Amino acid sequence: MIRRFAGACALGVSAFVLAELPARGADTTERPVGVVDLHVDLSYQYNYQGRAFAEGTGQVRAADLERAGVVGVVLPLYVPRRASPVGARLEDFESSYAKVYGALAATSPYRLPGCIPRNGGVRTWLAFEGAGPLVAGGRSIEATGAPPKERLIAWAARGVRVFGPVHTFDNELASSSGDSKPTDMGLSERGRELVREANRRGMAVDVSHASDRATREILAIAAETGAPVVATHSNARALAEHPRNLADAELRGIAKSGGVVGVNFHSAFLTRRGNATLADAVRQVKYLLQIMGSEHVAIGSDFEGDIRPPPELGDVTGYQRLARELEKSGVPKSTVEAIFSTNALRVLCRAGVRD
Ligand SMILES: [Zn+2]
Repeated sequence: MIRRFAGACALGVSAFVLAELPARGADTTERPVGVVDLHVDLSYQYNYQGRAFAEGTGQVRAADLERAGVVGVVLPLYVPRRASPVGARLEDFESSYAKVYGALAATSPYRLPGCIPRNGGVRTWLAFEGAGPLVAGGRSIEATGAPPKERLIAWAARGVRVFGPVHTFDNELASSSGDSKPTDMGLSERGRELVREANRRGMAVDVSHASDRATREILAIAAETGAPVVATHSNARALAEHPRNLADAELRGIAKSGGVVGVNFHSAFLTRRGNATLADAVRQVKYLLQIMGSEHVAIGSDFEGDIRPPPELGDVTGYQRLARELEKSGVPKSTVEAIFSTNALRVLCRAGVRD
């Protein structure tokens, strides 16, 4: 929706966007397209898989980021159920945050989380991917004393810009696409309350793991609040029938909200066939463009999330290959740049957010 954001640009978002472009080379054609990836699971690899933050599994190596054109990444503070015998707890979010913050401070070229101008390096934002521990977790609720809404305010101040209520299993907030059953509950009362609060705090609500009903309910709330809805790492179900992907009606709903869908590089989400190729990623992007329009498609690779990407998109150096293929297939350069960074930045750093 262009009109929704006309005011935002006037308030300085376009200045942010210009500051994102990687340094120009001698020849304009050599300049990599700036990349903002809406979903990189480095926090999971670092906190729970014993990997070095600077290396991950090799998909997102800090040393590769600059030549790969990366100017920003969203890092979900994902906590697996196995984090404790009673599942993910609020204190697990706290320890994940503390470790990730420390790693970001110590690892070049990452910058600390938030919507401050880039001034070189790779900007970062944090996300929830399964926010159930905000309202559950046994002792942790009593230990902190703060009601869930107030906790959300504090997390927003820490740089959490994306609020994904649920992951692979139903939780206290919402039903999951990975756990769907005939009695899909959608959003719980608490879920509705926190989605509204996230909207109010400038966080984009993420439907990537939500069930179909929860997705529709989040879109309905966004239609009232005027906040953008995102699917940080999902694709079109029309091309790859999978509960993690989105039907056309939901894609249109996200576009109408002013939000974006980040194209996921996982083979099973790109195509019905087993092993996806770069051409399948191009096909997904072009289909999303056709359904949603050029302002609503972004990149959400899901790198470091145990994905099996096409060989050409095996690590961050693949972004530029995808950009080149899109241009070759007739997508205008300005649209490629929007897909790779400016659409995501518009949603992450929209005017009026409180940092
Ligand atoms: Zn995910």
